[in-house]
Amino acid sequence: MISKGKSILNETKLMNCGMRCTVIEDNNSQDISVKFEDGTIKNHCSRSSFRRGNISNPSLGRGKANSIKYSILGETRVMNNGMRCTVIEDNNSKDISVKFEDGYIKKTNRFDFYRGKVANPNYVKGSVLGQSAVMKCGMKCTVIEDNNSKDISVKFEDGTIVEHIRRDYFRVRTIANPSLGKNYTRLLNASIKGESKVMKSGMKCTVIEDLGKTKITVQFEDGTIKENCSRDSYFKGSIIHPLLGRGYAYSKKNSILGQTKLMKCGMKCTVIEDNSADDITVRFEDGTIVKHKIRHAFQHRGIMNPNLINISSMPQRLVFYFIKQYFSDAVQNYRPDWLKNEETNINMELDIWIPSKKIGIEYDGVVWHKEENPRSLKKAQLIQNRNEIEKVITILEKGAFVHKSPKHINIQLESTSDRKQSKTFLEEMEKAINNILIILGINKKIEITDDILDKLYCLDVVKVYSQNLIRGENDLETLRPDLAEEWDYEKNKFLPSDITCGSGKKVWWICSKCGYSWLRSIQGRARYGSGCPDCARNVQRKRVVNIESGKVYKSITAAAKELNIKRDNISYCCKGLRDTAGGYHWKFVE
Ligand SMILES: [Zn+2]
Repeated sequence: MISKGKSILNETKLMNCGMRCTVIEDNNSQDISVKFEDGTIKNHCSRSSFRRGNISNPSLGRGKANSIKYSILGETRVMNNGMRCTVIEDNNSKDISVKFEDGYIKKTNRFDFYRGKVANPNYVKGSVLGQSAVMKCGMKCTVIEDNNSKDISVKFEDGTIVEHIRRDYFRVRTIANPSLGKNYTRLLNASIKGESKVMKSGMKCTVIEDLGKTKITVQFEDGTIKENCSRDSYFKGSIIHPLLGRGYAYSKKNSILGQTKLMKCGMKCTVIEDNSADDITVRFEDGTIVKHKIRHAFQHRGIMNPNLINISSMPQRLVFYFIKQYFSDAVQNYRPDWLKNEETNINMELDIWIPSKKIGIEYDGVVWHKEENPRSLKKAQLIQNRNEIEKVITILEKGAFVHKSPKHINIQLESTSDRKQSKTFLEEMEKAINNILIILGINKKIEITDDILDKLYCLDVVKVYSQNLIRGENDLETLRPDLAEEWDYEKNKFLPSDITCGSGKKVWWICSKCGYSWLRSIQGRARYGSGCPDCARNVQRKRVVNIESGKVYKSITAAAKELNIKRDNISYCCKGLRDTAGGYHWKFVE
C-alpha cells in the first residue's frame, strides 16, 4: 500500500544539483512532479528524494549538476606571481575565466587556479615594483617602474627619480641619488656618532663611536655597549643586544602584556609583566599575583589562583573570618598607594586591613618569611614611617623572621601550618586570634569549630571537583538555573556557581514543590533528569482511573499489575506524555 501521508504541494527546495525546484503535483509519497527554475519538469519522483535534495535536473546532466554545485564563480585568490585574480566565469572544472587585478583576462581551469598557477604575461619575473629600501647613499627610494631586470625606475624620498637602472643595483642598494652630488661620498663616509635609533628589537641604541663603515660602537638604553658593528646594520635596525640575544626581539613581538583572560580555575587574570615566553607575571582579580609562569599556560587558561588551592592562605582566611564579625569594614589583601614599592612600582600588600582602627594584620608563614628580604624590610620601614597606619599585628609561624618596631605587635605560634601539625596548629591559631581580639578591644572568645573550617575550605572544592570550571559559562547556576533553585545552601558548603554542570559530585537538594531534602549527584540531575524522590513516590501513591472501564485503582502499580501493562506507560498517560497504555486511556483521580 502506498501511503497518502501529508502533501508537500508547492514546497520549494534547493536540490543537490544546485538548482531550486518546486513541487507542482503531489499524488502520493511515491509520485510527485517538480518544476526546476529553468522550467524543466520532472515527473514520478518520490517525496523522500525531494526532502533529501536528490532530484536532479535532467536537462543539466550529471556533469553539469556537479559543475554548478562546485562552482567557484566570484572566488578571488593570489597567484604564485603575487597577483590577485578573480573567477569571472565558471563553465566546468576544466573551463573557467579569471580576471587579474591589472585587468588581464585569461581562460584556465579550476585546478591551476587553486594551485596559484595561472600566469599573467604582464607580470615581470622577479619584479621589485613597489618595494622600498634605504640605499647606501643614506636615502630611501621606491621602485616605481619595473620593466625587466635591466630596466627599473626608482624615486628617492626627496623626489629625485632615477630611470633605466639595473634591478640588482636596487637589491644591493647601490643606487645613488644624483641630487646628493658630491655629498654622496661624504654621506657614505660621514660619521654617525651621536645618532640614536630604535632597533627592531624595540631597544634604542646610540652610536658612541664611529671609526668607519664596519667599526662603530653602540650603547643600548640599558647601558650595554657593543663594539664592531656596521653602519649598515645600524641603519637597518638589526643590531642585536649582546646579552638579550636574538630571542629578545621575537619575545617583544609576541608579548602578551596587558592581556586579560578567564582562567580555568574560574578567575580572571591579567598579564602585568612579560619578560619572555617562559617568564610572565599575572594578577588575578582578587589581587593575587603569580610570577614566573609561561605564556602557554596563560593562553590555555591553565594558571591557577593559588588562593583557591593553597592551604597556606587558610590561616589568613581563618583570621579574617573572625575579624570580619567584629569589624565589618575589614578587607583582605589590601594594597594602598602608601605601601608603594618605589623600585617595582607595585603597591605592597597587607593581608588584612581594618580601616576604622587603622590596623593591619599579617600572617607570616615560615615558608615565605624565613628571613629578612629587601621587600619585607621596605614594607616594615613604610609601615613605621606612614601615618596612615597605627599598628600592624603579625602572626608568625614558628621560625619566621620577626620585625621589631614600635608599630609592630608580634604574636608567635609554636607550630607551622604544615598539614601534619594541624591539630596543635589550630589550637595555636585559636589562641592567636583571641589575642588579637583583646588587642582590638573585643572582649569575646572565639572557637575554631569543624563547621567553620568546612566553610573556609569550601573554595577548595572548586579545585577538586571542577577543574574546568568557568564561572558564567559552564557552572550549574548559569546552565541550569532551575536546578540551582533547588540547591541546599545550608547543607552544601559551596555554591551552585562553584561547580560545573557536568560534575559527578553528590550534593544536597531541596525540592521546590514538597521541601524534601535529598542527596544526588549534579550530573544525575542535570544530565539524567532525576527529580525529587519523594514527589516520585507520591505520584506512585496517587489513585488512577481507567477511562474506558471506569475502574479506579489505588495506584499506578496496582493497575499495572492487574492488567499486565508497563507501569511507566500508565504514568506517561496520566502526565499527558502518551495517548494510551495497554489500549486504555488513563487519568489521575484528583
Ligand atoms: Zn518533592
